[in-house]
Order: sequence, then structure tokens, then C-alpha cells
Amino acid sequence: MFLGHYGIAFGSKRVVPDTSLGTLAFATQFLDELWPILLLFGIEQVRIVPGATLGNPLVFTSYPFSHSLAMAVLWGAIIGAIHYAARRNRRTACVIALVVISHWILDFPVHTADLPLWPGGSTRVGLGLWNSIPATLILELGIFGGGLMLYIRQTRTRDRIGTWGLWSMVLVLLLIFASGYVTPPPPSPGAVAWTALGLWLFVPWSYWVDRHRERI
Ligand SMILES: [Zn+2]
Repeated sequence: MFLGHYGIAFGSKRVVPDTSLGTLAFATQFLDELWPILLLFGIEQVRIVPGATLGNPLVFTSYPFSHSLAMAVLWGAIIGAIHYAARRNRRTACVIALVVISHWILDFPVHTADLPLWPGGSTRVGLGLWNSIPATLILELGIFGGGLMLYIRQTRTRDRIGTWGLWSMVLVLLLIFASGYVTPPPPSPGAVAWTALGLWLFVPWSYWVDRHRERI
């Protein structure tokens, strides 16, 4: 899942309107932001198999610390606790924890059965919707579009940046999503990791957009 995660970030703004979109974008993609770092340190592994699924050439050989259900819950609890320590708002901290965990829940339908339930466990789950392009498109675009609509209804722009910053980010996210179907598979796992680190860019970008928009 890619776009859908950002849909959750946009949509969550309705539940926690005083929390920046940047915090929510960081939380929703935390597992995928952590993953390339663990790949580069050799802690997790990925293989490139062109055609592994229709929408993704990656075979996730091992990623128990970033993408097991138990670790997703733990990361959610840790990030929620850090937020609570800083802001003392229990409700917001809980929502942020759930946004972190939502990453695993949204990955579950699209990944093939490669998502571990806990580190060291042999059970791996996933419904494999990546093998169906229509199903992937409906799910990704549906959650992304729905979340974006909620965000736009919830906030209005203060200035031009609030408009152009947002729509350029939406466009770049859509282009990244679409490029997965038309560009050749990445040359190496290292290239996958370095490219995936680019996801971090959307955290400051989202903070920037959000600062130029206000609550309606
Ligand atoms: Zn993921």
C-alpha cells in the first residue's frame, strides 16, 4: 500500500484537527520509513523478482521489525507515548498510535502472504490484492481520495502555499504510485532502500502544507 497510507493521514486530521498533517504523515508511513533504514543496516531483507506481483516486483524476504503485527502495535504504542510525553493529550496520542498501526492493517489486503504476525513467528499473512490492478486501484485511490476530501473540508488555505504546496504533493504522490507500473524494476535491494528513504521527504512537506492551511 502506498497512497492509502497518506489517505489515512489526511483523513485523521478530521479526528485530531489540532495535530499537524506532518505528524500524521510521519505516523501513517512510519513502518515504511523505518524499513529502508533496517534494509541498509542488513537487519531486514528484500529481493527483486520482476513480476512477483502485478503491481510490485519486491519479495519481502524478511521484515519482522518493521512489518510484523506485534511490532506495528509496539511502534504505535512507543510513538503514541512519546507524543503524550510531549503534549499531554491522551486522545491525540491514542489516535497517533492507531495511525501508526493502521499501516499494517492497510498493508494486509495488498501484500501477498509475507507479513509476519510477530518477529520469529512462522505465520505470514496477506491477501495479495497487488495481483489485481483494478482492486489495487480501487483500494489505494479510494482511501487516498476519501482522506484528501476530508482534509480539504476540514481546512482552508491561508495563502498560495496552502493550495500549491498541497496539490503538488498530491501530484507527486500520484506520480510515484503510477511510476511503479511503468518503470523497470529497481536494480538492487540497495537502490530500493535509498529510494524508499525519500518517503521521509513527505514529512516536512506535510508540515509545510499544514502550516499554510487553517481549520475551518
Ligand atoms: Zn508497508
